[in-house]
Amino acid sequence: MKQVALVTGASRGIGRATAAELSGAGWAVCVNYLEHREAAEELVRQLRAGGREAIAVRADVADRRAVDAMVRTAETELGPIELLVNNAGISRQGLFQDTDDETWDRVLAVNLTGARNAARAVLPHMLSEKRGCIVNISSIWGLRGASCEVAYACSKAAVIGLTRSLALELAPSGIRVNCVAPGCIETDMVRALGRETRDMLVEETPLGRLGTPEDIAHAVAFLASSRASFLTGQVLTADGGFIV
Ligand code: NAP
Repeated sequence: MKQVALVTGASRGIGRATAAELSGAGWAVCVNYLEHREAAEELVRQLRAGGREAIAVRADVADRRAVDAMVRTAETELGPIELLVNNAGISRQGLFQDTDDETWDRVLAVNLTGARNAARAVLPHMLSEKRGCIVNISSIWGLRGASCEVAYACSKAAVIGLTRSLALELAPSGIRVNCVAPGCIETDMVRALGRETRDMLVEETPLGRLGTPEDIAHAVAFLASSRASFLTGQVLTADGGFIV
């Protein structure tokens, strides 16, 4: 039977690798994007060429109505969503004292409220079927805190709270909720920090390299699979040993 996954923020980076990994594992995938339409559509073409169903749908995850509309589109075109990967996220650097309201609100709106919006939108079907899986993408900075990224670290800590709380609330309904906390992963988000910071992060990572988007996609696919059927409320840290 066809199973449908929604991956938010799947036009680039970790979300893109996750959508490809899930597609390879047999999932029909809704590729959500915000600005990079061509990249999302190109991924969809690739997945379809591999014989899988896929669609690209634009929605700002911070906008509840847009997320509801995206889920309706996905459910009409692909079928009911059984796996939600809350991956869409943004980071902003700067001193806490220099972080204006707009920046603070936007980081929380995308990283935390975005995950809440998508979970609320997919849950009616999961609850009625008493089956489903949600994997949230947090960050090691949500576990240990981050200087000059306070809003980001708070939003990612909150994603862990969301994961654990939803896991407890939804377990009686047969829905598992877990979380991956990536370390430093080679994507545009880390490239934006510049070469020097990137090299410093490599040095600080015990395994001696940055993670690849595929490293995280593998962790997500595991949590989504039946091999993880007794796991819920967990934070799987995939960071090359960064916070051991
Ligand atoms: P990225 O390369 O910057 O890609 C971000 C993705 O999120 C893009 O596909 C982007 O879509 C999408 N997105 C951003 N805002 C959105 C919104 N409001 N609505 C819908 N989609 C939105 O980031 P990444 O490194 O892959 O990060 C993915 C997730 O992993 C994020 O939650 C991030 O916090 C987390 N993470 C990353 C690292 C790391 O080292 N890279 C470490 C820990 C955690 P468009 O391009 O189409 O706008």
